Amino acid sequence: MATATRYENFIGGEWVAPSTGTYAPNRSPANTDDIVGEYPSSGAKDAQAAIAAAKAAFPEWSAMPGPARGRILWKAVDIFRQRLDEIARTLCREEGKTFAEAKGEVNKGIALFEFYSGEGFRIHGKTLPSETKSQFTYTIRQPYGVVALITPWNFPFAIPAWKSAPALVTGNCVVMKPASNTPGTATLIAEVLQQAGLPKGVFNLVTGPGGAVGNTLVDSPEVKVISFTGSNDIGIALNVRAAKRGAKVTAEMGGKNPVVVLDDADLDLAIPGILNGAYGSTGQRCTATSRVVVQRGVAAKVIEALVAGAKKLKVGNGLEAGIDMGPAVDESQLKTDTDYIEIGKSEGAKLLTGGRRLTDGSLAKGFFFEPAVFTGVKPGMRLHQEEIFGPVISVVEVGDFEEALHAANHIDFGLSASLYTRDANLAMKFVERSEVGMVHINNPTVGGEAQLPFGGWKSTGVGEREMAEEGGEFFTQLKTVFFDYTGAVRTSKMY
Ligand code: NAP
Repeated sequence: MATATRYENFIGGEWVAPSTGTYAPNRSPANTDDIVGEYPSSGAKDAQAAIAAAKAAFPEWSAMPGPARGRILWKAVDIFRQRLDEIARTLCREEGKTFAEAKGEVNKGIALFEFYSGEGFRIHGKTLPSETKSQFTYTIRQPYGVVALITPWNFPFAIPAWKSAPALVTGNCVVMKPASNTPGTATLIAEVLQQAGLPKGVFNLVTGPGGAVGNTLVDSPEVKVISFTGSNDIGIALNVRAAKRGAKVTAEMGGKNPVVVLDDADLDLAIPGILNGAYGSTGQRCTATSRVVVQRGVAAKVIEALVAGAKKLKVGNGLEAGIDMGPAVDESQLKTDTDYIEIGKSEGAKLLTGGRRLTDGSLAKGFFFEPAVFTGVKPGMRLHQEEIFGPVISVVEVGDFEEALHAANHIDFGLSASLYTRDANLAMKFVERSEVGMVHINNPTVGGEAQLPFGGWKSTGVGEREMAEEGGEFFTQLKTVFFDYTGAVRTSKMY
């Protein structure tokens, strides 16, 4: 058997072996015999070395004009485009989504680098009139220094892109720790940034367990800002830990997103939108559709179409042509998916299709799961309340718009919500009263664009929005300037 390629950490512009001397095989969830590579199981010392390299690089990088920093990111955009298929293939192999989905994700990440390249020209403050004569008052935005980016496995290219591009262009130096399930795509990002000519130490990558590497980053007094995306348990614990030393944190966490279908909806739009939102990327998107709240007049039609759509999906290795849905990312996620099937049944919901592990032929080597549809779900059930992060739809039937809105909002999460209707008044009410960070009308719950703020309300998000201008602002601190040009002595009784 061919030996797997061994990769290293990227610290101070060099590819460096981990201090632990240990590596972990990165196996494809579609075929555990397929080893994408061996990646460092780093420890605290490696994280500390990366922090030191980032700190050393900060004075020069932060002094470089924003447009010049942006041009280096722009160069990376060109290289990412040239290496698109290679990156998408690694992503597909290590995360499991289909090759087409992987390409879509890489293109999304490239758009983020594109957007933030231009933001190098627009790192702006405000000028405001002073209360005092002949005084120029304004604000400027400046970088923090070393920032830590801790990312999940489900978007191994797009999320590192939407965190690192704004951090870098605003003049910070980065230490990134990707999820242990997906170190390969992150390693390619480091390679491309190196190729693009990013100065040594400005971007550092350390792979390895969340405990050793993650905690070192979170506890280091040199790390001024932490941007985390992942589960609620880890995100909240990380936030508490970082707060003890006063570090700034943004944590984007779980979702359980509803689609509301009213009686007047165009079902030709709604059905494909729900199927794509629920089963695309194997339901492993923070914005995935997992609850369908449907008005009784169209419920039977919608349920029938969802069951037919779920049954039609071809599940398999995303590298193969004709596959609609890949595997769960690992054995533990597969177990979560199957556990929730039992939970749903025990709560009295009715499983109409799916919910089994698939093991026929070559599927036996991966973590494949049959897309599922539950009906008879009530808002109080765990099936309605808890994030599964797998291809499971829970259908709740309601009588009218108010009941639908209540069911949609009756949850701790608040990432995205969608409404299908032809009634503009109800659509506007839904926009106004949905308790989420992102609302879609006649659209699936999924999706985001580089220039639009991304993130959730309620327990989904702590901190600031990501992407867009706001995503860049998060990585900067404001300075207010009072510039007197009278030449006269000034004293103040205020503050
Ligand atoms: P996770 O288990 O919370 O892990 C996220 C990251 O945190 C990984 O890099 C993980 O490393 C690291 N980590 C683990 N323990 C840590 C610690 N003690 N200190 C610091 N870092 C630590 O989440 P996941 O399973 O990768 O991702 C799935 C979750 O992400 C879902 O809940 C999903 O909804 C959420 N998500 C949210 C958004 C959003 O924008 N709201 C977007 C995408 C995903 P290891 O891999 O080594 O454990």
